[in-house]
Amino acid sequence: MGSSSLFYWWRLKILIDPVLEESLSWKLESLGITRYAIKYRPEECSKLTLYVWLPDCDWSENDREFLIASLKPLADVFHLTLSLPNWLKLADEDWSVSWKQHWAPDPVGERILILPAWLEPPKEFLDRLILKLDPGSAFGTGSHPTTRLCLEALEKKPPLGLRVVDLGCGSGVLGLAALGLGAKEVLAVDIDSLAVSSTRKNVELNKFALGHLQASLGSVEVLGSELKSVKADLLLCNILAPVIAELAPSFDDLLCLDGRALLSGLLVDQAPKLFSRLESLGWHIDLFLEQDKWGLIEISRDGVQR
Ligand code: SAH
Repeated sequence: MGSSSLFYWWRLKILIDPVLEESLSWKLESLGITRYAIKYRPEECSKLTLYVWLPDCDWSENDREFLIASLKPLADVFHLTLSLPNWLKLADEDWSVSWKQHWAPDPVGERILILPAWLEPPKEFLDRLILKLDPGSAFGTGSHPTTRLCLEALEKKPPLGLRVVDLGCGSGVLGLAALGLGAKEVLAVDIDSLAVSSTRKNVELNKFALGHLQASLGSVEVLGSELKSVKADLLLCNILAPVIAELAPSFDDLLCLDGRALLSGLLVDQAPKLFSRLESLGWHIDLFLEQDKWGLIEISRDGVQR
């Protein structure tokens, strides 16, 4: 041991295909690993970088090999192979410092600034709507194209005075943005309890949301019972297309007659299938926006003048 109290970390860096993001996060969480980050690479949007920090004292070489072996099958499902893992031993460094350096203030659209909770807003962005986020382990730091598309759509058509539901809230970023842009109240749900606690934490960080954003564990059924007789004016949902297709029959119960939904998280090539599904359920596609290979659609009921 010696007199040195140096602590070491193993940092795993691995390039991943975006389609693996959710399942890899889920796997890491289920192994009790919360010190990880998934970064988007503006220079190459076809790949993401996954970083994982592991205390050296708890992770032998065998354990680390076992970890990689348990991540591999997640790629097999999509007929992909994980790229070679890169391990770096870091001494004398606070993992949280290295973890946090991967986030910077992030301007979105014309008016929004996503601000990691531990930073001060840069002067040039002080006139923006500041959304403080502690991303913790929940998806939704604002940098993913699907989140950005939703934020930009909210900004273009601010939800003034609206009752909003945030289905699959993650970090709560969409609900918080809706409130900051004038929504009256937000009911948020997620089937992941970590996401619910992350959203609640982020409400605490953004005082304007206190008492106006309620986050619960669950999905469409929970939203349905919380809305009671007054349905929502706007539904926000950024989940993958197959999940949206599955949940779509419930939208009718959640939205008032002239209500609309912003649905993100779909890959552009999944759009036609989702469109016909939504149209068969009586929804009209009002808008379709694309960013990289991701798409966002806005829907309202067929025949309702907007
Ligand atoms: N709204 C955030 C997070 C999107 S990630 C953003 O836009 O950045 C999608 C989230 O949906 C995840 O947190 C996941 O746990 C949640 N989710 C997945 N399936 C769900 C379902 N059937 N009902 C509710 N939430 C779901």
